[in-house]
Amino acid sequence: MKISIASGKGGTGKTTIATNLAVVVARTGKDVAYLDCDVEEPNGHIFLKPEITEQLDVTIPIPKVDIDKCTLCGECSAACEYHAIAVLGKSVQVFPSLCHGCGGCIDVCPEDAIEEIPRTIGHISRGVGMGVKFYEGRLNVGEVLSPPVTRALRKLPTKSDVIIIDAPPGTSCPVIEAIRGTDFVILVTEPTPFGLNDLELAVGMVRELDLPYGVVINCSDIGDNRTKEYCRREGIDILMEIPYDRQVAVAYSRGEMMFSVNSQYEENLHKLYQNIIDRNSR
Ligand code: SF4
Ligand code: SF4
Repeated sequence: MKISIASGKGGTGKTTIATNLAVVVARTGKDVAYLDCDVEEPNGHIFLKPEITEQLDVTIPIPKVDIDKCTLCGECSAACEYHAIAVLGKSVQVFPSLCHGCGGCIDVCPEDAIEEIPRTIGHISRGVGMGVKFYEGRLNVGEVLSPPVTRALRKLPTKSDVIIIDAPPGTSCPVIEAIRGTDFVILVTEPTPFGLNDLELAVGMVRELDLPYGVVINCSDIGDNRTKEYCRREGIDILMEIPYDRQVAVAYSRGEMMFSVNSQYEENLHKLYQNIIDRNSR
């Protein structure tokens, strides 16, 4: 069972729901894995406090030109959509930070003068925290290509009963990479005009991907009713509403679990999980 937690915008409480849900389900005896796919700013570790046991580099293949074979024909440069390789004078220059590792330049080189070499763009950490198997992808500072890190994280073999995927905020490629192929998507939102606008975009995304989904409204007693009205109008299930709780905000700022301030949250999260399981088994 793969459950992804996404949100149209940052700061809605997505990681709070993802980490708390992971621990609550693990406490029922399930083997649970938590994947932090918010690779530009992973923060699930703050709450799960894992002991990291392994780190793996994530690389992409970039071209290396053998200038002895190269005739400076310029085919590679013309083929590169990202302007990552160029003939400059009597040499061919590769700009690694622009390269997407697509291999197009290698395919077109008539002299077989290009080979691939790996370039590290991020890494994956794995360990265990609070009874949950922890996996985190992290893009190196200055790098912009997050999808390969997310892809590498999603490809890791895990035989866990339940896999909780903490997606990055937004609705762009990195999010799609994170939620693609999951069994259920929880969209976490806040009942504000900005929250609603981003929720509408996120709903469009999951509908396009044809994934089952539902909404969790955080700080549900703040803002207005337009989010609930939108969900009613669109036939979207509101799975859980979480009213603003100052104690939860304080716990969050300390990197503590929300159910540590009130056991009712554990019960509610367990109901949320059961609700998702029931829907998927229908
Ligand atoms: S691998 Fe792709 S992105 Fe990189 S230089 Fe070659 S054509 Fe350009
Ligand atoms: S396509 Fe090959 S031969 Fe032509 S410039 Fe590029 S590396 Fe050199």
